[in-house]
Amino acid sequence: MLRVAIIDADLIGRKRHRFPNLACMKLSGYWKGKGVDIVLKTDFTGLSEFDQVFISKVFTDTSVPEDVLSLPNVQHGGTGFFYDKAVPLPDEVEHHRPDYHLYDPWVERQLSAGGKARDFIYYTDYSIGFLTRGCFRKCSFCVNQNYERVSAHSPLAEFFDPERPKICLLDDNFLGYPNWKGLLTGLQQTQRPFQFKQGLDERLLTDEKCAALFSSRYDSDFIFAFDDAADAALIEQKLQLARKHTNAV
Ligand code: SF4
Repeated sequence: MLRVAIIDADLIGRKRHRFPNLACMKLSGYWKGKGVDIVLKTDFTGLSEFDQVFISKVFTDTSVPEDVLSLPNVQHGGTGFFYDKAVPLPDEVEHHRPDYHLYDPWVERQLSAGGKARDFIYYTDYSIGFLTRGCFRKCSFCVNQNYERVSAHSPLAEFFDPERPKICLLDDNFLGYPNWKGLLTGLQQTQRPFQFKQGLDERLLTDEKCAALFSSRYDSDFIFAFDDAADAALIEQKLQLARKHTNAV
C-alpha cells in the first residue's frame, strides 16, 4: 500500500496555531479514498520512508527547512509558500470532502498532555469550507489579488458533515456574492450554528441582508472587516443599520 505523509507546516512552526489546514484535509480525504495509507507528520524527519509527502502552509513566516523542500518525494504548496501565486489544488482534490479525522491522533495527544478541548474545537466540532471564493476589492494588504468578483466555490453538501455540530465558512467576501441569500438559506436549513471566520464586509450590508443574517443561528460574535479608514462614515452608517436588527454588533 502506498504511504503518504501530510505535513501542516503551521502546526509544527507556530506554537499557538489552532486551526486545521483545509488543503491538508482535502488531500487526506482524496488519497484515503484511493486506499492510500495517510499519516499526519508533525515533524520533518524520516520523510524518505514515504512514497509521497505533501507540505502545506498558510502563513508566509512559518519556516520550513529548505533541504526538505528539495527532496524528490516532497511537494509543497499554499499561500504560505507562494502567497497570491499559489497554484490551486487539482479540481478533484479541491472539491473532495475534507478528511475531518486527519488531525484526530494529534488532537488526542494534545488532550492527553493536558490541553483543553475548547482549544481544539475547529478540529473536532466544525465542518469547514468555502461556499464562495474571491473578492472584488483588491485591498493592497490582502492575498486576494487574482479575483474580479465573488464566485460560487463549493456546494455546502461538499464539506458539510452532519456529525459535526457547527459550520465554519472561510469565504473571502460572502456578502459580495449575488446569490448570498440562497446560500444563507442553505446554511439555515442545516440548523447548525455557523460563522464566517474571515469576517463579513460591513459596507455591503442592506436591510435585507441584516434581516437574514441576524435572524440566523450565528456561532460566536459577528466579525466585520474594516479595511480602509476612508470608509469610516459608511461603516458608521452601516452600524446604525445593523443595530436596527440586532444588539450583537
Ligand atoms: S475586502 Fe477583505 S477579502 Fe476583499 S480584498 Fe479587501 S481584505 Fe481582501
